[in-house]
Amino acid sequence: EVILSVRDLHATVDGTEILKGVNLEVKAGEIHAIMGLNGSGKSTFSKVLAGHPDYEMTSGEITFKGEDIAELEPHERATAGIFLAFQYPLEIPGVSNRDFLRVAFNAHRKSQGEEEMDVFDFDDLIEEKLEVVKMDAAFLDRSVNEGFSGGEKKRNEILQMALLEPTLSILDETDSGLDIDALKTVAGGVNQLANPSNAVVMITHYQRLLNYIVPDYVHVMADGRIITTGGKELAERLEAEGYEEIMAEHKAEV
Ligand code: ADP
Ligand code: MG
Ligand code: MG
Repeated sequence: EVILSVRDLHATVDGTEILKGVNLEVKAGEIHAIMGLNGSGKSTFSKVLAGHPDYEMTSGEITFKGEDIAELEPHERATAGIFLAFQYPLEIPGVSNRDFLRVAFNAHRKSQGEEEMDVFDFDDLIEEKLEVVKMDAAFLDRSVNEGFSGGEKKRNEILQMALLEPTLSILDETDSGLDIDALKTVAGGVNQLANPSNAVVMITHYQRLLNYIVPDYVHVMADGRIITTGGKELAERLEAEGYEEIMAEHKAEV
């Protein structure tokens, strides 16, 4: 089953074209990595997929499980089953992480036509999910993301993902300052959550995350396009050789 299909996607930010024809197809059960130098358009791509209002899709097509989602609001995309960490607020002083997660979880359930989960059942559920991300329960009683380290924020992101069980998760490794423990935890969480009916798109500048999450496909983005696609060996080649040679090889083709 095709989960995500992107065809000749063009998008602008402040009138400047950043995405210049992205093509990508993601099927159920697959993990894709999108790699590329800083400024190649990776984060822009994830934001356009989420429907971020600052990013204008000017042409092309985005379908999710066969439905055109180009006109959907970000929250409607989330309801449909697309998860992007940045859809959630960065810091909310005075609101405990536990309450925040419960409200987000119940809002999601209601949007799926399900009943709200009561506080006690939610506490049981979240305890189970905490193990996936190896987070301490004390973490739930702190304000949302307030004073969280980069690693804690990432863990929290994976916790949200574990709760919402999205069909498509798009993870942008924007924080390159993750320590190795946080990285392993994030990877372990993603590996546990990945199953034959969902899909993951990992966006990363560095190969190191891919030491822990083995992608089925690796795509290289340059100047707003995916210039080449391969298996995990492509990431290994990038790690060994850097981007220059691969970019030069494929420039003529795009
Ligand atoms: P990456 O995630 O691969 O590092 P980005 O998508 O962040 O790349 O950036 C791609 C290009 O788009 C860069 O040249 C960047 O300056 C530009 N860009 C991204 N976001 C904005 C924005 N909000 N306003 C103006 N330019 C932007
Ligand atoms: Mg960047
Ligand atoms: Mg980025």
